[in-house]
Amino acid sequence: MAELELKIEKPRVRIAPSPTGPLHIGTARTALFNYLFAKRYGGVFILRIEDTDLERSKKEWEKDIMEELKWLGLEWDEGPLLEKEGYIGDFGPYRQSERREIYKKYIQKLLDEGRAYYCFCTPEELKAKRQYFMSIGQPPRYNGKCRNLTKKEIEECLVQKKPYVIRFKNPNKKVVFVDLIHGKIETDSSEFGDIVIAKDEQTPLYNLAAVIDDFEMKITHVIRGEDHIPNTPKQILLYEALGLPSPKFAHLPLILGSDRSKLSKRHGAVALKEYKKEGFLPEALINFMAFLGWNPDQDREIYSLRSLIKEFSLEKCQKSPAIFNKKKLVWYNGFYIRQKNIDKLTQLCLPYLIEAELVVPQIESKKYPPVFGADTISQIFVIKDTGEIIEFDKIKKIIAIYQERLKVLSELPELVDFFFKREIVYPKELLKWKDAEDKDILSALRKAEKVLKEIEEENWGAEFLKKVLVEEAERFKVGDRGYFLWPIRVALTGKEASAPPFKIAEILGKEKAIIRIKRAQELLKL
Ligand code: GLU
Repeated sequence: MAELELKIEKPRVRIAPSPTGPLHIGTARTALFNYLFAKRYGGVFILRIEDTDLERSKKEWEKDIMEELKWLGLEWDEGPLLEKEGYIGDFGPYRQSERREIYKKYIQKLLDEGRAYYCFCTPEELKAKRQYFMSIGQPPRYNGKCRNLTKKEIEECLVQKKPYVIRFKNPNKKVVFVDLIHGKIETDSSEFGDIVIAKDEQTPLYNLAAVIDDFEMKITHVIRGEDHIPNTPKQILLYEALGLPSPKFAHLPLILGSDRSKLSKRHGAVALKEYKKEGFLPEALINFMAFLGWNPDQDREIYSLRSLIKEFSLEKCQKSPAIFNKKKLVWYNGFYIRQKNIDKLTQLCLPYLIEAELVVPQIESKKYPPVFGADTISQIFVIKDTGEIIEFDKIKKIIAIYQERLKVLSELPELVDFFFKREIVYPKELLKWKDAEDKDILSALRKAEKVLKEIEEENWGAEFLKKVLVEEAERFKVGDRGYFLWPIRVALTGKEASAPPFKIAEILGKEKAIIRIKRAQELLKL
């Protein structure tokens, strides 16, 4: 397909979601590939809202789709505006529900030229036909009962207000197209019969609406999920019937769950906003989604949106299904968390600390309750449990010592809650290192208390604490510092795993650190 790629000039591509639910991760992947293709070749990325199904389409989903695309950084060059009414671009409206006038003339043309016809068959009749085809082992399709109604018959039915649909007069022939990913695809159109293309003279169904809009919006390449391959021959026949040129088609591979069945809720979250709420960064999702169907044949795994634009090509898109491996997404997320500037990371983490009710922002603002994935603007917070004031910079220090190990932002409260509690609760067995007995642990903690008390306030910092405590640990038990350091770490955090105790002690401050060491001794004596 290399040659086709070379000729690409300023493509116009679109993502055409139906707003019947929140942005699905599969749709986000399709949006990404369209975006990359457009940007790679200096083209235009269009957002079109396919809301012809008025009952299932909701404004709230439309808003969600737009917000999440923006959050991912996939800004559209043409389409509806998010913040206010209206559109950007010269080919609007970009909502199908507002394009009825445009559809009308195309539907009329098909009717006038005898390429489409009114069908008055009742649901019962259609059901009976369907059953007949199934009973002879053939795919159900419309058999053309209303295909040849006379003008007079049609008029009579219309006067009687008989319910109807508009069907396409299928030329029943072989349809061949070259998919830019899958290669040549052949279909015998008689397999699908005379499909319904419109509910009435101005309400096309998906296939016809997509054809009209793709033509009117000058779409050059239709890049979408493989589940749309069966629609493509239908759309090609509609282009032909309308005397219009068809765009090129590229169908992206399916996304499967780890059990190789189609990705669905059973495999976990499918809505992008759930990933956002769980604390995945847009950079991680973009990098991860790029590999859901694109394979650059290199060992390199890290790609920013910008480097993807440089490297992307349909040629490197695979035919075989892409497997959704959440562990890989978590891995990417850890990577991008480590790359984040600490101020920014703290901003992103704060909503999670607020939601976990560890801190309360002091400034009342529209941004609270917390908005996941957005910046937090307060600089001063109150620790809910103690009523103490804590500043942004202090929270930043806490997050900094967890930056290395944090994988998803929502894990943070559980990792750092001990900084925000007056008292921490843990079983005393946790204080035990290997075969240490209570008396050994007690003596380690007593020693630690003494050593810590002797440290001057101005020396209270992670490095100094490390020097002093490690020296003491070597003296306490030669060859295994754990006998001394483990109970200290547990006393400070109440946790089996945490950042190093010196860094934690620095942030807790002398007074709190000593209180916790004392409290651990009391716990042992119980
Ligand atoms: N509205 C269709 C969907 O949500 C768009 C399909 C297409 O890209 O043609 O899947």
